Amino acid sequence: MSKAAKRVEIKAQKRLKSLVRDYFLNLDAAADDSDRKVAWCTSVGPCELLVAFGFEVYFPENHGALLGARKVSHEYIPRAVGEGYCAESCSYMTSDIGSSLAGYSPLTEAFGIAGPPKPDVLAYSTNQCREVQDWWSYFGRKHDAPVVGVCPPAHLGAITPDHVKFVRGELVRIIERIESHFGMKLDHAKLEEAVALSSKASSLWRDVLDTARARPSPMTFSDGLIHMSPVILMRGSQIAIDYYEDLLAELKQRRDDGVAAVPDERFRLYWDGMPVWPKLRELSDKFFDLRAVIAASTYCNSWAFDEYDGGDPLDWMAKTSIEIFINRDEGFKQSFLTEMFERFDIDGAVFHNARTCPNNTNSRFGMPQRLRETLDKPVVVFDGDLSDVRFFSTAQTMTNIEAFIEQLEERKR
Ligand code: SF4
Repeated sequence: MSKAAKRVEIKAQKRLKSLVRDYFLNLDAAADDSDRKVAWCTSVGPCELLVAFGFEVYFPENHGALLGARKVSHEYIPRAVGEGYCAESCSYMTSDIGSSLAGYSPLTEAFGIAGPPKPDVLAYSTNQCREVQDWWSYFGRKHDAPVVGVCPPAHLGAITPDHVKFVRGELVRIIERIESHFGMKLDHAKLEEAVALSSKASSLWRDVLDTARARPSPMTFSDGLIHMSPVILMRGSQIAIDYYEDLLAELKQRRDDGVAAVPDERFRLYWDGMPVWPKLRELSDKFFDLRAVIAASTYCNSWAFDEYDGGDPLDWMAKTSIEIFINRDEGFKQSFLTEMFERFDIDGAVFHNARTCPNNTNSRFGMPQRLRETLDKPVVVFDGDLSDVRFFSTAQTMTNIEAFIEQLEERKR
């Protein structure tokens, strides 16, 4: 690509920085305030319930990603290994536990706070993996706080009313445990409000991701990774909605003005699997230089839920929590990926085989081969990890990506 080609920064990013800062400062203040309570929650866990109860909600996976992005995870993982956690289990979990043992947090450098807020309760859903249950249990023991969770049926094809009913029942049990432990009473109007806000933010997030259908695409995968924080951290709040309304307007304007995330866009790619947080910039620069835009991804799409239609909010939570991609069977996943390839006019796909997250890796049971054959699209698989750089070879991955783009060039010719 010509040396003159430059990224045109998405303006909303400046505001995002201050929103995320406010979010963490508020959590920190809540942890020090005896009148307020903090809940830890998995990324697609029962967040809306916690919001309705009045907890400030913190998401430890985000801390794992921050440790990865700061390129320090591998320094702390050995501390968790010393406590009996396998070095090949989730590196979000091991780096988070290890950094806690070492008394380190990237939140200190970023926001001047001591670290993650102490939890009053920890809530999880194993809709993504069982690792979160053990991770939360570790911190439940450490902070002497109750751990509540949902273990929904996994690897689902079609979602049936029985699946939804079962998960709804688990949510009711969480409500009962919180009510009896804290002497609280759930306000159902507040739950409806939290679900409506959550669903609205999620719909806007889907619209944001959809702007990448345009040629050239006004955003790429790395932009999605930056801008997805509100739909996770601020779910159930008006703040997330306001942010995505502005971001969507900006991206639509970029699309209409022909502003490209990757100038001279030549190839449109799909990213499957976890991001490689410590190598985000290098990978993003490589694709930029090769004039390839990653127009869609499984990961960013994980928080694009179905809309809430005003019915039973617990039904919506139950259904939403089990219909996410990671909780589905191979057949559903293949259909979903096929649809995404068509929807975003994809030329080829990049599959990340994340060593410590088999749960969010889809290259282990023949999926890349099946897509290659049925869609006649080139697919590349590379080995790496979400956080632990010891599983990632920069030189080898970059060579694989270059060869893959050459293959796409060849087909174009
Ligand atoms: S889905 Fe993967 S990365 Fe996320 S918590 Fe589970 S094992 Fe870790």
